[in-house]
Amino acid sequence: MIQTGIARTQWVAAAAMSALLASCAAGPQPGTPPVAGNPPVTAPAAGAIKYTSSGHAAMDAWRIDFSSRALEAGHDRAIVESLLSGIAPIPLWLGSDMRVASTGISDQAEFSKPIWDYLKVPLGESRISNGRDRLAIQPALFADLEARYGVDRQVLVAIWGMETSYGAVIGNFDAGNVLANMAVEGRRRTFAERELLAVIKMVERGDAERSDLLAGWAGAMGQTQFMPTTYLAYAEDFDGDGHKDVWKNEGDALASAANYLKKSGYAMGQPWGLEVAVPAGFDFSLADGNERRMDTWRAAGLTPIAGGAFETGGADFSQLWLPAGAEGPKYLLFNNFTVFKAYNNADSYAFAVGMAGDAIAGKTGPMTPWPQHLRPLSVADIKTLQAGLNARGFSAGPVDGIPGRQTKLALQGFQKSRGLVADGYPTREMLALVIAGNGGVGVSSVTDGPS
Ligand code: CA
Repeated sequence: MIQTGIARTQWVAAAAMSALLASCAAGPQPGTPPVAGNPPVTAPAAGAIKYTSSGHAAMDAWRIDFSSRALEAGHDRAIVESLLSGIAPIPLWLGSDMRVASTGISDQAEFSKPIWDYLKVPLGESRISNGRDRLAIQPALFADLEARYGVDRQVLVAIWGMETSYGAVIGNFDAGNVLANMAVEGRRRTFAERELLAVIKMVERGDAERSDLLAGWAGAMGQTQFMPTTYLAYAEDFDGDGHKDVWKNEGDALASAANYLKKSGYAMGQPWGLEVAVPAGFDFSLADGNERRMDTWRAAGLTPIAGGAFETGGADFSQLWLPAGAEGPKYLLFNNFTVFKAYNNADSYAFAVGMAGDAIAGKTGPMTPWPQHLRPLSVADIKTLQAGLNARGFSAGPVDGIPGRQTKLALQGFQKSRGLVADGYPTREMLALVIAGNGGVGVSSVTDGPS
């Protein structure tokens, strides 16, 4: 979670990457300090820490520099040394094979797949039935979590499943080593160093043991995948044993996630989203990311697709969202959806959490079929679309290949100007319209797209 800005590969890709790199991560690296408990304070009290070479010149140079800055900032010398003495290049970050070194960083599964494909694993039969089992096995734990933190149990279980398959896949990299690799790789150095300082602090405070610090390939830790700064801010010692053990202790991990969601504004008993039906001739440009009062949506003719009245648990504001355009399922999204995005800032991630939680609670959806004949555009085609919209004066923002909200709003503006259904959904047909007679912007780069 919270791998802000880094391409946060979704768990499938991350799991595949973990498997791919398992051989690199398994077993202690040469020079790894003893793993039981915090390190003994035997290092000399002053001067630079002496390290054995990692075999990577840039890593060695970075380590000397970072260590001295950490010591100057007053961090515990023995802990700094214990975190950095065993670091070594990880192929994913620093390998010479760029196909491997770039895969985890560039593969944004949230954006590169059709949403209905993205949802297959989080809404798969085994994921959902395992989630129901988890609730059934420990009802007292979840009742306690709900009472103490005010977060619905199916949401906690859904996030637990999304992040680590209920604790089964927590990553087997050392957090210090992963973050050191990220820092040396360079593109996210400031972020990586800040997270590494947070790891040092976690051990200094005694919240975690040096031997606890397992992480995924991008530094997220434990059963609910907290980045170190998030851990410092929100991790909880649910059982009161003096440690915030998000790795091995389910109560600590789930309480930490619940605390984070609650402090991000989660409202228990309110929906994250409700699937809606729209009247004929509905103006889809209202799906513009703006929140409106429920009365406004009722007046516009929206109704719950399941029938009856809207049950919002007291929530009065929501935004209309079309994950697959006007032909697909349509949702009113509430504040809890935005809270899920604190965990991972992607609509598709938040949607999967909400849908999985509903499914675990016995509510399956969506009722509207996915428009699977409308294949989403490739990243290259989205870039062409963005360039074309920008050239026409509809501001799609940076040409990054990600069909984010600004791109959708720009496309809605274009559609509206042409008298088309303004759903902002980037289809092949829309791309063709945008680039037609557009002075050739992007035309040569139109591809056949994903099959
Ligand atoms: Ca504990």
